Amino acid sequence: MSILVILEQRGELRSCALEAASAAAALGKKAGLDVNAVLVGRSLESQADKLAGFNIKKLFLYDDEKLENYSNDAYVGIVKELVGELSATVIIGSASFLGKELCASLAGRLACELAQDVIGLDWDGACVVKKPVFAGKAIQEIKLTDSLQMVSLRPNLFTVETDGDAKPEVETRSMPELSIRTVIKDIVRASEGKIDLSEARIVVSGGRGLGGPEPFAMLQELADQLGGAIGASRAAVDSGWIDHTNQVGQTGKVVTPDLYIACGISGAIQHLAGMRTSKIIVAINKDADAPIFKIADYGIVGDLFEVVPALKEELGKLAG
Ligand SMILES: Cc1cc2nc3c(=O)[nH]c(=O)nc-3n(C[C@H](O)[C@H](O)[C@H](O)COP(=O)(O)OP(=O)(O)OC[C@H]3O[C@@H](n4cnc5c(N)ncnc54)[C@H](O)[C@@H]3O)c2cc1C
Repeated sequence: MSILVILEQRGELRSCALEAASAAAALGKKAGLDVNAVLVGRSLESQADKLAGFNIKKLFLYDDEKLENYSNDAYVGIVKELVGELSATVIIGSASFLGKELCASLAGRLACELAQDVIGLDWDGACVVKKPVFAGKAIQEIKLTDSLQMVSLRPNLFTVETDGDAKPEVETRSMPELSIRTVIKDIVRASEGKIDLSEARIVVSGGRGLGGPEPFAMLQELADQLGGAIGASRAAVDSGWIDHTNQVGQTGKVVTPDLYIACGISGAIQHLAGMRTSKIIVAINKDADAPIFKIADYGIVGDLFEVVPALKEELGKLAG
């Protein structure tokens, strides 16, 4: 019996990977289970160095140029084989865009129990998880019962804690013989050099209140000043003002930044589903009765075209 944690990387270890490693270490300690980890990709040696202090017994690096880009066939095949080899009983991944797909495919192939987008993880003879239901209106607590249990953790929510500086034993493997049905020929990044929305510590989001695509430039400037990323409501995305990859909510991305600034967003339940676990929520809306104010930590009733420039000016003074 052991825990296998799936670490996500994109050229470097993603913060959700460190969060998963940390949560796995805490669970392993409570359950008395060893923790092993798997990292799939190319040129992974330097990333392995960052995994000291997570009580990972063995780190399996599948390092091959054929694994440079994510392939569902390859990643699922590799992790499935490793689960069997290690007789793992608990698998921990991340509920990132990639992680959710990988965990769902893996759970199908392993015919095991899966709890996605988990916001709390504990042990009581088996995994006990907390996850949001009904678009985040309620939190469900579930005790998993299968002999093989898998959870994916919501990014940005679990703290990263290390204990000592012991490094895992590393075993590097090349690409196993697997049937790969899909080949990625090219990747076109929509936001080259920009902070990834799902992992951003600060998100500045715009909604229908912006009235058009141009004001997103003003929000981008504010996000740049704060070192954050741009989000949007579905109304703004559906109007064609900003790309769908920026959409936050039930049918968009789930974000958990330290600071979420909602500008001209009413706070529909489907939008809240994607951002209500943000640590601090600031709402700027000219309607004092807008539902977003019910979950906001700080609310500014006013015209965003006055408030955002004023905020930018004050931040400029602070930076100066
Ligand atoms: C199945 C389903 C899935 C959905 N998924 C999502 C999702 O993932 N994400 C999502 O966001 N929505 C989603 N929606 C849509 C959701 O129901 C709302 O329609 C949408 O969130 C509204 O976007 P909004 O707040 O930008 O627009 P509105 O609700 O129109 O709100 C605009 C707000 O801007 C304010 N405003 C206007 N002008 C100004 C100004 N000058 N200064 C300050 N404030 C101003 C107004 O007072 C208003 O509160 C989904 C809906 C369905 C049915």
